[in-house]
Amino acid sequence: MLVGVVGKADEAALLKLQDEMRRDNVGVGDRAVIGGKMSFIPVRYPSTRAVANGYAAIGDRAFLTIPMLGSGIAASLDAARMLTGVIAAARALGKSVEETCSVANLWNYQTALFDAFADHCGTDVMKRGVLRFSPELLSLLLTSDLLDNDEMCALAKGKTLDLPLGKLLKKAKKVKASELCKLLPVLGMLAKSKRAVKIAKAIPREWDQRRADAWAKRLRNAII
Ligand SMILES: Cc1cc2nc3c(=O)[nH]c(=O)nc-3n(C[C@H](O)[C@H](O)[C@H](O)COP(=O)(O)OP(=O)(O)OC[C@H]3O[C@@H](n4cnc5c(N)ncnc54)[C@H](O)[C@@H]3O)c2cc1C
Repeated sequence: MLVGVVGKADEAALLKLQDEMRRDNVGVGDRAVIGGKMSFIPVRYPSTRAVANGYAAIGDRAFLTIPMLGSGIAASLDAARMLTGVIAAARALGKSVEETCSVANLWNYQTALFDAFADHCGTDVMKRGVLRFSPELLSLLLTSDLLDNDEMCALAKGKTLDLPLGKLLKKAKKVKASELCKLLPVLGMLAKSKRAVKIAKAIPREWDQRRADAWAKRLRNAII
């Protein structure tokens, strides 16, 4: 049994949720066979500073998880592969251990992370946006055929939605005219998510503290 809670979870709320799940799933008993603990799963954009001199963060520590996809393990292994690739490449060029583990070299791993996971920045924007939507707007989105099956699947896989104007106009026809203005926050969210991915992909290719800080700040401002 996996109980997921967005935001703060206390013991009492978890016990209540477990009881509700047991009511719906009669086969679930009371005894914890394994597990029985609370864990935090980060659902956010990847770390903008996963490297320092002698350090590199991978997996959950680099915030690579998109739990809706069950992707945490794969992302951790991908990050490990990227990091070992960067280290092996430097060693193959005859670089010393100090040079290999310098922030300037490890930055190549940071850029590889954002090449692979830039879309997660768009997913983060959508997560924050959807959590702020009213129940009425959510219900309109889910019941009005606005999103087709492929789009729903793309969102569930952590992909961002690209909706050109023509497609948007077609979709607008599926909603009553009186309800169209309710969708403005959705358009705003989609534009913001696209912008965040664009900034994420524009990560400086070479290590430069000032440019790296400026990029991280731009990205944070685009997401939060
Ligand atoms: C309930 C639950 C269900 C999940 N289901 C899935 C799923 O179905 N599919 C999926 O892909 N992902 C799933 N995830 C996410 C997945 O487990 C993580 O994304 C993944 O394990 C992250 O790997 P990691 O190496 O970054 O961290 P971890 O697997 O957490 O490994 C970190 C390790 O470091 C050790 N450690 C911590 N501190 C220290 C220290 N000071 N010194 C030495 N060692 C230390 C820890 O003991 C741990 O072994 C789930 C997570 C949870 C909590």
